Parts: sequence; C-alpha cells; structure tokens
Amino acid sequence: MNIHEYQAKRLLQEYGVPVPRGYAATNSREVETAISHLGDDMIVVKAQIHAGGRGKGTFTDGYKGGVKVVKNREEAQEAANHMLDNTLVTAQTGPEGRKVQTLYFTEACDIDHEYYLAIVLDRETAQSVVIASTEGGMDIEAVAEKTPEKIIRVPISPTMGLRHYHCRRVAFALGFAGEQVKQFARILTGLYKMFWEKNAMLVEINPLVTTKQGQLIALDAKVSFDSNAIFQHPEIQQLRDLNEEDPKEIEASKHNLAYIALDGNIACMVNGAGLAMATMDIIQSFGGSPANFLDVGGGANEDQVTAAFKIILSDPNVKGILVNIFGGIMKCDVIANGIVAAAKNVEIKVPLVVRLEGTNVEAGKKILRESGVALTPADSLVQAAEIIVEQVKNAD
Ligand code: GDP
Ligand code: MG
Repeated sequence: MNIHEYQAKRLLQEYGVPVPRGYAATNSREVETAISHLGDDMIVVKAQIHAGGRGKGTFTDGYKGGVKVVKNREEAQEAANHMLDNTLVTAQTGPEGRKVQTLYFTEACDIDHEYYLAIVLDRETAQSVVIASTEGGMDIEAVAEKTPEKIIRVPISPTMGLRHYHCRRVAFALGFAGEQVKQFARILTGLYKMFWEKNAMLVEINPLVTTKQGQLIALDAKVSFDSNAIFQHPEIQQLRDLNEEDPKEIEASKHNLAYIALDGNIACMVNGAGLAMATMDIIQSFGGSPANFLDVGGGANEDQVTAAFKIILSDPNVKGILVNIFGGIMKCDVIANGIVAAAKNVEIKVPLVVRLEGTNVEAGKKILRESGVALTPADSLVQAAEIIVEQVKNAD
C-alpha cells in the first residue's frame, strides 16, 4: 500500500526526521487556507499522486511541472489553479496520467546539495538495505543506470538492527563531516525505526538536501507498506486514498475477491491463485492476453461470483471470459449455480467459456446445460483456452 508525500512526511516527522513545514489541500477553499498559513515568500506547490517524477511531469493541458517553486502566495495560488483537478503525466504514471486531487504547499528551502537516501527490503538476502547516493534528485534513475558506483548499499541484519557504525559509514560515504554526521545519524535512525515499526517495504527520501545554512532536511518522501501486515496498523490503513486505486480493485476487495486489472482482453475467473496464474499463462501461450487476474477463493458464494462477473464486465477491454474452476473445497454445482445466477443478473454480451472439474462436476455441467445461458463448455484447461482465444479473435 502506498501513501502520499504529505502523509509520508508527517510520519517522518513523528520519527524525528526534519521536513519543511507544509499544508495539504483538496479544494479551492483549503488551497486558500493552506497558502495563508505560509509566509508571502518562496513556496513549493506539489501535486500529490501515487507516482514519482512529478517535477519533470507535464499536465495533459500542456502546463509543465507537478512540483513548482514559486516566489510568493499569489504565484502559489496561480500554480494551484493549474494543478488541481488537472491530469499529470510522469514517467511513472503511464500515458493516461493521474488526476491531481490533492495539493501540498510547503516552505521552500535554499538547497545546497541533493542526496538520495532509502531503505528497502531485499528479498534475496532477507535483509533490509540502506541505499544512498550523493547524486540525489530528479535524475537518480539515470545515475543508477550510468554510474552505479555512485550508489552505495549497506545491508542491515534484522537481528542486529541499525547500529551507529552503519550511520557513520553511510554519512562518510556521502561526504558529511562534523555536525552533519550527527544530523544524518538522527535521520537514518528515525528512518530505520519507521521502516521497521510500520512494516514498510520501502522508505525513500529523494532528495534529502543540505541547505545553505547547513541543515539536513527531507524534501520529498515515498513510503510503501507491506499489505499483508497492514492489519496491524489501523493508523496506516486510514491513510489509504481510494482515489489513487483502480475502482475495479476497490470493488473486488469489498467482496473479498483477489483481483488485479491487466491490459489484455480475455477476462479470467478462477479459484486459487496458482490455477489463476496457470490460466493466464495458457491464454498467453495460445496467443491471447488476459484482462485480469481474479481468484474467487476456495469458498466463493453466488453473490461473490455475481460481483466478480460485474467487475470483469465493467472493463471495456474485455472481449471474452474464461471461467476455470477446480471443485475441491468448492463444489462444481455451487459454482454452476453462481454462474447461472450471475448471467441472469448481469448481461453477458461476450463469449463465455466454462471449464469445471472436480467435486460434483457432472451435477455442475448439468446445471449449466439446462440453464439456457449462452456459454461454451470445455473439458480441459487447454481446450478452454484454445476456444476462448479463437472466439475472441473471430469477434474482432
Ligand atoms: P518528484 O519529482 O516527484 O521526485 O518531486 P520532488 O518533491 O522530489 O521535487 C522535485 C525537485 O524539486 C527536487 O529534486 C528539487 O530539486 C526541487 N524542489 C523541491 N522542493 C524544493 C525547495 O524547497 N526548494 C528548491 N529550491 N527546490 C525544491
Ligand atoms: Mg523526488
């Protein structure tokens, strides 16, 4: 789960990491209030979307930059008028961009140098790793690609945790000395504590800057949490912004369906994550492309199957549906009843192929046969995939 920069900065602040003073706003009245809280001086106006690269982004109406450093309140208001409810396209949003529904206004600071600092979970070594660079800022991806030696990595053992010598090692590698080593150690210690206590998978400060006055301060922040641990953190769950998520995925989560939208045109409804993966693979091997991953789970009922059909069909790209159910815990006749009820509830205008196998398979097939629902039954996964790919191709 991801959160916005302004939320990440509030968390960082709780952990003792210095951030610029700032205020978020979601409508014109809040924009006015936010700006009035800041001095009539340099202000940074920042679009809040769950994607990076905002500084270099462009809005769909041609307005440039999702991060603007402006000279006074009036210019902040002007930038806000351009950004709010406008769609921002960055290297991370895809060409369709993201609608900006929240803005963040902060005091600007006089940057001396921009650094990169992050902690990520490294699954391969089962450790967290501190990643840092003197070459922070908007070109960090290019640095990683062209001059990887400028990026340092310090693994942190989960049993030992972050120690002072880790902090000093990174601080010296970044070229800090004297008072700044102490400031840096406080920041990295806070960052690690937050990473650990909140079950984060990534905490990233880019840029971490030194100001002309010699202070270290976090100017941007990104945090991703482990969704499997989120139930332990109701305070983090509250930060979820549904505006940033696919409405189909939100609807699916309400019905306890594991659904992920993809960009193909053959929708899949499957029970079991492994079978769902296999189904997507086999569609692909016959030259088709899956429109989604959907696991209805082991105990799906009629309502869930109906909801699943509705979600699948709300995707305008879907040109065919493949239902692949293995009746283990779940019985094929229950699923068949679900399919029939759903088909009566939601109009299915695209080809539907159903493959049932396992417990009560004969009863299930009989229900489908006698239902009058327009569908093509299949006896094996291979056959089912072949048929649906063919039918979708012919419909084109
Ligand atoms: P991103 O492009 O989405 O990563 O957005 P950032 O929040 O990192 O902002 C992009 C760039 O804007 C930073 O790398 C800075 O160069 C610049 N910037 C952000 N805040 C300030 C500020 O307070 N003062 C100045 N001078 N520049 C800033
Ligand atoms: Mg940044």
